[in-house]
Amino acid sequence: MNLFDALRSLSAFSSERTAREALSRSEVYQKKRQQALAVRRVVEEISHYEALNVHQGHIFASVVLDLLERDLSQETTSLPLLILENVARVLPEAFEGLYQRMLDVGVARWSGLVFRGSDALFRERLLALAQEMPWKWRGRQCHRVDIVCALAWMDDEMVQSAFATWIRNAPAWTTSPPLDLKAVLQIAGWEMTLEGKRRDLFLRKNAALVPSAGVVQANTLQANVSSDASCGWCGRPLIVLLDLPVGRNAQLAFLWPGGERVRLATCLNCALQHTWGEERVFVDLDGQGFIRWSRENGEKPPSVRVNALEAEGIIVQERLLVPLVRQTPYESQGEHLGGCPDWKQDADYPTCPACQKTMLFVGQVSPVAFSLEGLIYLFLCKTCGKSTIGYQQA
Ligand SMILES: [Zn+2]
Ligand SMILES: [Zn+2]
Repeated sequence: MNLFDALRSLSAFSSERTAREALSRSEVYQKKRQQALAVRRVVEEISHYEALNVHQGHIFASVVLDLLERDLSQETTSLPLLILENVARVLPEAFEGLYQRMLDVGVARWSGLVFRGSDALFRERLLALAQEMPWKWRGRQCHRVDIVCALAWMDDEMVQSAFATWIRNAPAWTTSPPLDLKAVLQIAGWEMTLEGKRRDLFLRKNAALVPSAGVVQANTLQANVSSDASCGWCGRPLIVLLDLPVGRNAQLAFLWPGGERVRLATCLNCALQHTWGEERVFVDLDGQGFIRWSRENGEKPPSVRVNALEAEGIIVQERLLVPLVRQTPYESQGEHLGGCPDWKQDADYPTCPACQKTMLFVGQVSPVAFSLEGLIYLFLCKTCGKSTIGYQQA
């Protein structure tokens, strides 16, 4: 099945008004379920979209909008919306002439990213709309935060200067009800500097990490290796999640220009207990492969337990990975270095304990090797030589 087959199946699902009744009969349900899972697998795979050209992407987006306009029920919208978002990640030009339809059908309520390639005229329309709200379309309330999120994804000077003005002056529509503009910008992967300029919280280069066939090649990198540095809270060895030969692999040089080797390490016992707003585990590092437990971590907080990881089924499995360059930073699915984070929950960028700046997202890895679900996010402050992780369950 390719993307075109998947779209045909989706159209067929959508036009079968009896589908829900059919679902009650188990054989039909099983068949449909398998078919739907196959469609989902194809629709989710970002590399399929890299092969589309602008014309194909436009047709895709138009057909998906037809589907959404026909039926906006919860169970039929998730895959079409996923297609739109994936087209937007690699081929935003495909949406030319479709932005108003996307807004009208309520796509902004689900994803701001799809608007990232908006043309100047549509951008003006959204900038005006953000300030004119509340706004209704065919009786449905459209939320201001959705419009502002859509704007935040546009990498554009006009939008940046609008956000700078709104953050500086806090117009009434941002205070009542309160609208956290800084949180909105973080969702779109950037923040406003004190000088009113955009500062990206992610790297523009992006390389997928794919399992190596077991043969060590020049560009192979190691993942999940024990180290001789240990955790100051629980005494366990720090685990190197990624050992990056940035000096001899040109595809990785963007992570630490001028460096030789970057080891992104953590304590699996203590760092994975971090949840929103709690203590993180920081590790000192340099561009030559050095790592050490950070003094900034201080004393072990009482809330951090020292677990027998093996008893919890957490087993460190060494892996070999190979970087594979992606077209855009917005292809955020799966394991990758650089690019945008694929948040499973809310955007959650850490603050560097040394300089108090927001840390840079440098990649994400799957914790499957530790028998966990979700994603481990990797952050860096190169200036201070600090790294940390975040963990979110799916
Ligand atoms: Zn520890
Ligand atoms: Zn710092």
